[in-house]
This record gives sequence, C-alpha cells and structure tokens, in this order.
Amino acid sequence: PMEAIGHRIQRFATTRAEHPALISEQGTVSWRALLDQTNQIANRLRDAGLQSGDSVAALSENSADYVALYLGILTAGGCMVPLSGMASAEALSLMLSDCKAQFLFVSRKNRDLLHSFRPGLQGLPDDRIMALGEDGEGIGQTLRDWLANASAEARPADVSLDDAFNIIYSSGTTGTPKGILHDYRFRQRQMMRMSRFGLDGDAINLVSTPLYSNTTLVSVLPTLFHGGTLVVMAKFDARRFLELAETHRVTHAMLVPVQYQRILADAEFDRFDLSSFKLKLCTSAPLRPDVIADAMTRWPGNIREVYGLTEGGISTSLDCAAHPDKWSSVGIPTEGAEVRVIDEDGHELPKGETGELAGRAISMMRGYVNQPEQTREMLWESPEGEVFYRSGDMGRIDEDGFIYILDRRKDMIISGGFNIYAVDLEKALLAHPAVDDAAVIGIPSEQWGETPLGLVVLKPGHQDSGPAILEWANGQLGKSQRISAIELREELPRSTIGKVLKRELREPYWQTIT
Ligand code: ATP
Repeated sequence: PMEAIGHRIQRFATTRAEHPALISEQGTVSWRALLDQTNQIANRLRDAGLQSGDSVAALSENSADYVALYLGILTAGGCMVPLSGMASAEALSLMLSDCKAQFLFVSRKNRDLLHSFRPGLQGLPDDRIMALGEDGEGIGQTLRDWLANASAEARPADVSLDDAFNIIYSSGTTGTPKGILHDYRFRQRQMMRMSRFGLDGDAINLVSTPLYSNTTLVSVLPTLFHGGTLVVMAKFDARRFLELAETHRVTHAMLVPVQYQRILADAEFDRFDLSSFKLKLCTSAPLRPDVIADAMTRWPGNIREVYGLTEGGISTSLDCAAHPDKWSSVGIPTEGAEVRVIDEDGHELPKGETGELAGRAISMMRGYVNQPEQTREMLWESPEGEVFYRSGDMGRIDEDGFIYILDRRKDMIISGGFNIYAVDLEKALLAHPAVDDAAVIGIPSEQWGETPLGLVVLKPGHQDSGPAILEWANGQLGKSQRISAIELREELPRSTIGKVLKRELREPYWQTIT
C-alpha cells in the first residue's frame, strides 16, 4: 500500500516544520503552513460534496496555491485534472465532461476562456467553480474566501495503489483529446525512479514548465513526496530563471530544449552563480548535441535527458556526463524498462534497423478515460507473449543499446516510396551557420506523393537566402532525402512545453487536398 500524500505532508510538517515547501512571488510557504492549507482544501472539498475518486479540474498558470490545491485534492481522495489554457474552449468542455469534473478552479487569465465554454458545460453548478488567485470577478469565489472557516484538521483519505491520482489530457498537438489516467501505482513507481536522480528532501527544484503537463509532474511530485522545496515560476522567463536559481541556490530543474537554448543565450548568463546545480533534466523533444555541449561547459551540474510518453510504458534516460559520444541519443532504458523496434506489421526488427519503438516499463497509465479501443491500439505483444506499448515514435537502437528517436510515426515523410525522417533533414539545416531554428514537414507533391519542405528561422543579423541554405543542406544529405524548398519564417509555432507544432505547420499545405 502507498502512504497517502496527506500522511507524508503531516510528517514533514513535524520533522521539518519551518523548511520551505513552496517559494513563489507570493512568498514562502513552510511545510507546516502547507499542511494546514492542504487540510483546509481537503476538508472544504469534502464538505462541499467531494467523494473519493471524484475529478477536480484546474485551469491556471503555475502558482503556490495551485500546488497546494493539487495536494488538497489528493488528501481528500479526489483525482486531479490539470487542464491547459492553450486548449480550445471546445476541447476543454469535452475534457471536463469526459472526466465528470465535480469542481473547477480557474485563474483570472483564463476567465474569458471559461466564459466561452461555460454555456455548453453541464453538470457543474456555479458554486463549484472557484478562482485561483486574488481576483475572482467573473469566475467565482476565490480559493482563499472559499476556505474561510474551513477546518485544518488532518483527515487524509485512505488510498490504494489502484486509485486514480490524476488525469492528464493529451495537449491536442495530435487531434482529439485523450484523458490519460494515472493511478497511485504509476506515480509511486515514477517517484521512486526520479528519486534516484537526487530529487529528494534536499532538492530545491525550480519549476518553470506548466503544472498541467506530465513533464512537470515527473519532477514536482518526487520533490514534494520527499519533503524538498519547489520554487514555482508563474511564467518562464530566461533572466528570471537565472535570478531565481542563484537566489534560492537551486539544485534541480526539469527543462524542455527551447528553455535551455533561451537560458544559455541570455547575454548575462555567465554573471550568475549557478554552482548549486546538481542535475538538470530535459524531456519532451530532442535536445541538440550542440546545446548539451554548451550547457555542459558553462552550466554546473550534469544533464539527464529523459524520453517517454505521458502514457508511460516506455522510458529511457541519457546521462550526458557519462556518455559524451551518445548525445544525439535518448540513452538506454531506465531500470525495469525494455525497448524494442517493430515494423508496420508488428514484426520485431534487429538492432540498428529503424522502426516504431515499443516499450515495457514498470509504470504505465491505467488507460485512456472512456476509450478502451484507443487504449488497446497501443498494445503490442512480443513473440514471448509479453505486453509492450507502442510509442508512435520511429527510432533505432545502436550496438551499445542506446536509443535514437527519428520522428513521430505520423510526422514521417514518405516520398517516392522512401521513408524520410525529419530529424535528419533538420539536423542538416541546423548545421548551417545562419540557421537558428528549423523544422521539416511533408507537403503534397504530384510526383512523389509527399516531399520535404524546410521551414527555417535565421539567426539575428543573418541575411542568407532560402535557396542558398537549401543548396548547402542538400549537399549534406542523401539523394532520397533532398529537401524540395525552404521557406523563411520569423519563428516556429511551439506548444507550451516547447514541441514544434508540426500539425499546425502542415495544415495549410494539405487543406486544398483533403
Ligand atoms: P499531445 O498530448 O499533443 O499528443 P504529446 O504526445 O507530445 O502531446 P507527451 O506524451 O508529453 O505528449 O509526448 C511524448 C512524445 O514526446 C514522445 O512520443 C516523443 O515523440 C516526444 N519526446 C519525449 N521525450 C523526448 C526526447 N527526449 N527526445 C525526443 N522526443 C521526445
């Protein structure tokens, strides 16, 4: 059985009462204060009718209150549903009814969004919509007002490993939202794995990615579960990140690749004392070897790149200091995990060959909420009869067992019968001295079915032309990999956790066809 998070907080409130649990623009919350706030939220939710297993949703940017809300919901035995403010009103309304949310907490920034889906949303009375933050106008009571008179008595709900911990909706970069259900078993195993990276009671973890993303929770939950400290940023800003890291002697951070680039590009980077850093984690998209090299030279502490899906089931990690020759890989499977490569017909491929990655890991989601068919589609059975999960990513495993991600299966470009992986073409473009950022997508071609188009952002001060870059990049590529054209862009659209939105980039080119 798992020790309920409420019991853990209770313990820390005694053993490390004055130790900071949360640091944010709102001030510092000690473990003792966090216990009181968490209990109040839990008791108030129960008084208002929350039953064990009920979903409680939040739509907000990061804040200390958001973290306390998360813990309060869990302490009451509820299931947390963190939602993204980047999702459309239509998608949010689908998500809220799909998980049967019983309460909803919304920040001021998301008030207009709330208004656009509120009319279509049934089963959620107005007095169950509250505001996170100071300003509840047009939303409902603020969390603080709502908690007035709530008891701080500790009554953590008993939970079992099979109980729902959270539901995270896929962010929508790939179509219809799917609710990924994580139970306590999943979170416990994930926390055990992450504490091996030093995310423990001594950790001071600077959180700058959104709390609704699994990427964030992967590092936030173990820090809390071991009584460490979270420094919470409402919104990422490279300079502010550096200031907070120095001021609070930060030891850990989970960052996505674009954040590394922005932080390292800060003109004042070298002025900051970052010697407290022990480990930086990176996940969600490929981290470029040149960025790793730069960070390993100028930024104290090791880097660990992590590869996985919110769904779980596949999990690898790369210790950058230990394997400088493998920086373009995502490392090896984590303890208890296994990865294989399969072809379109589900046959296993030998080492070195490219196919879809399938994985088996100790932590795996319970399934997609209300979508058993979609859940089954993820499964692959090995010749030995073991169940693996299909990642939807194309990749290969080298002779040392290191895993390389080439592309998402659905982003792979099939041109004249050849499979082209955007990552190879992007690498060639990024090697050009004038290129700051690049993405390659497949666009329709009468001759080839599909053909690669390069979208390029130039470095400031560079004037190189598309055709010149095209010629240069194609000179580095194989014959079947040639990019057909280059378009210059001001920037590339990215999700809030830094993934290039390829579907969005592709859409205009395919509209006339489909
Ligand atoms: P959506 O919810 O919109 O479908 P998503 O699928 O990107 O978003 P995640 O589950 O967070 O949500 O992303 C998993 C995917 O992210 C992987 O399948 C892989 O394509 C990519 N990814 C994750 N980590 C890495 C990494 N270290 N290197 C390269 N790609 C990565």
